[in-house]
Amino acid sequence: MTNSSLVIENLHVSVSGKEILKGVNMEIRPGEVHVVMGPNGSGKSTLSYALMGHPEYKVTDGQVTLDGQDLLSLPSWQRAQNGLFLCLQHPIEVPGVTLESVLTEAARAAGKETDTIRKQMIEEAETIGFEEKFLERPLNVDLSGGEKKRNETLQLGVLGARYAVLDEIDSGLDVDALAAVSQRIQDFTQEQNLGVLAITHFSRLLEVLEPDHIHILNDGSIQMTGGPELVERLEEEGYQGLLDN
Ligand code: ADP
Ligand code: MG
Repeated sequence: MTNSSLVIENLHVSVSGKEILKGVNMEIRPGEVHVVMGPNGSGKSTLSYALMGHPEYKVTDGQVTLDGQDLLSLPSWQRAQNGLFLCLQHPIEVPGVTLESVLTEAARAAGKETDTIRKQMIEEAETIGFEEKFLERPLNVDLSGGEKKRNETLQLGVLGARYAVLDEIDSGLDVDALAAVSQRIQDFTQEQNLGVLAITHFSRLLEVLEPDHIHILNDGSIQMTGGPELVERLEEEGYQGLLDN
């Protein structure tokens, strides 16, 4: 498809009756890496929840399309089936449900082959240094913060998503895990043309994952967009300094 993209236009989102996002615009094409940075409470996670359809995050204006199709009218599961993946800032523990059954059901629902899921899981786990013993645990139960993030990366790989929203995938990762996870995501962008919206506070993630565009979100809107050089300026000047200049 030539005109494939994830397009966010004038997105307004309210939570508990309070407007958090006040008109966000962004267009993500296959293989591109867009990075959203911004102070605590600026609305970064709100953006990720709204894209995936969290019921508490109400879209009050604007639209989002995936390959030209309205995304916001779809239930979350259908957004996922259309190729959108959300890596949560705080992945949820689901007692009693194994990773394998989640991925098998997801593949089945999407009409995909399920015989190879186990093999794919093991391969992905190996690539990112995720111990195989964790594959038997109920989803995320008793995993450390960093292990949960690796678990999410594994799911992203096995599900073969087309667009991924990564909400602070680097938080809680040690240096080795960070290197492995960011390399894997960079590979997805090149090998599978994955489009990425990465929310982060740290330039470290971007040493391996190559950003095309950096967006600074502040007070619910994108107040600055630039290339990778913005990250350096941010490290030197801080959000306040950057936005004041
Ligand atoms: P960020 O991820 O950029 O740190 P969030 O999107 O999590 O910011 O939050 C943006 C603002 O929305 C904050 O002021 C936060 O307190 C508020 N907020 C987020 N989720 C909820 C919620 N479920 N209920 C009430 N307020 C919320
Ligand atoms: Mg957040």
